[in-house]
Amino acid sequence: MTTQSTESLEMLVMVSRLLSSKLDISELLVTIMRLSSRVVGAERASLYLLDEKAGELYFDVALGLPEDVQKMRFKLGEGIAGTCAQQGRSIISNDVQNDSRHASKVDNKSGFITRSLLTCPMIIKGKVIGVVQAINKIDGEFTETDKNSFEAFASQAAIAIENSRLFNNVKEEKKKLEVIFRKIEEGAILTDTAGDIIILNNSASLYLEYEKYGHKNISDVFYAFGKPEDFIKTVCFGEQSHKFLLEREKPKKLILETACIKIKNEETGKADSVLWIFSDVTDKVMEERMARNFLSLISHKFKTPLAAINGFAQLLKDCDGNNTEMIKKASESIFSQGQKLSLLVDTLIDFTQAENMTEEGLNKTDFQAAQLLEEIKSEYAEKEDKTIFKTAIVENFTLNADRNLIKKALKQLVDNAVKFNKNTEKTVILSAMAKEGKKMLTVGDNGIGIPGEEINKIFAKFYQVESFFTGQVEGWGLGLAMVKKIAELHGGKVAVKSQIDKGSAFTIIL
Ligand code: ADP
Repeated sequence: MTTQSTESLEMLVMVSRLLSSKLDISELLVTIMRLSSRVVGAERASLYLLDEKAGELYFDVALGLPEDVQKMRFKLGEGIAGTCAQQGRSIISNDVQNDSRHASKVDNKSGFITRSLLTCPMIIKGKVIGVVQAINKIDGEFTETDKNSFEAFASQAAIAIENSRLFNNVKEEKKKLEVIFRKIEEGAILTDTAGDIIILNNSASLYLEYEKYGHKNISDVFYAFGKPEDFIKTVCFGEQSHKFLLEREKPKKLILETACIKIKNEETGKADSVLWIFSDVTDKVMEERMARNFLSLISHKFKTPLAAINGFAQLLKDCDGNNTEMIKKASESIFSQGQKLSLLVDTLIDFTQAENMTEEGLNKTDFQAAQLLEEIKSEYAEKEDKTIFKTAIVENFTLNADRNLIKKALKQLVDNAVKFNKNTEKTVILSAMAKEGKKMLTVGDNGIGIPGEEINKIFAKFYQVESFFTGQVEGWGLGLAMVKKIAELHGGKVAVKSQIDKGSAFTIIL
């Protein structure tokens, strides 16, 4: 082997090592440029990339060329570089100034004089991706040997560029996946097959209070939700994908539907990581449970009055007509139990209507708060003789709201104020007040009051305070849920203040 070919071989090995060590595309392009001139002993070098869509060669920004040169583009077939890219073949030109293919626009801009050029295409899988060009051979002219070395160099450069692009694509994809992972609304955790947490998103972190506990392994999460060890072993670390519920009472009731998806490695066919998806199904599950309870509740609630009605009706049917005392008692009972049943049904209908209503469905009008309260007061004063009804108009104001619905909510509050009151002198006060832009309608009573620990629960559907406290089991426990819904439909809320044995005050704040 001649010294020259040994040298160029060593050079190529060095080049190959250097190029394959660079994955950052900018750094790689600069390195290719720098090496191009050294490989064949030229004064300088150029590197063009092919914009496939436009069919044009361009200089990458990373090369740091002066701005006016940087902006230049060459059509395929334009200049020696363009011709080389079009034909996919190397070109030696040792007398550039007299070469008709030469495009002098770069020289004109840079003021540099090009004497000789060795131009090689960079080819990957039969496709030209760019061109490298050695400019002005330092000693003599570019030879066939230079061309061979330069082609070998160009093919290494092409592979390195391709690898770097692939690597960047993968990196981009990974970044995108990470963004998606973080943004999905469900909680998501990726673990290895031993359960060690690799990455988790914001929702998962929130659900599991990750900041506080800093779980290292997914089994820590399940322990926190009170799952037994054998469940964790079989379900979590078993072969199959699964779905199950996690449930926790504190700090807030939370039910998570958890899907455990084993992710298989395509080559080995074995699971090498596990994706855990947590969806908050608290409301859905509670509704389902409620619906189930609701059926037994309905039968229970209807049973007592129906049994009384049927019993007395039977007595009436069988009596001889002379027992006037019995006829009177039976018909009175049938009437009052019938009233109770109607009330139950009416409340249920009212509640369902309010529950299904949307803001768009409201029939809003302007009306005076004082006038509405007076109207309610006189309606009750007529039928309830054991209760004193008062109004206290601290400020009168106009409301723009669904009058019927607001009236229904207030009447529900008045019903409760009368119902949960064991005093011989019952008082109910309806008041209107405005403060800091808030309009407030309050129903106050001197009734039994509400125990502190119950205050947050009474607005839940079907919730009733124990009967040993209230002395009542009538009603559905839906009244306050409806009041709350009506307030919320109007963008408002309901507040309550209460003291045992002193009374309660419910305020609709709009
Ligand atoms: P219901 O009246 O059908 O029982 P509500 O939803 O209207 O259902 O009320 C829920 C519970 O809140 C009642 O069972 C009662 O224990 C309590 N409550 C409501 N209003 C009052 C009040 N004015 N005074 C005392 N307790 C009340």
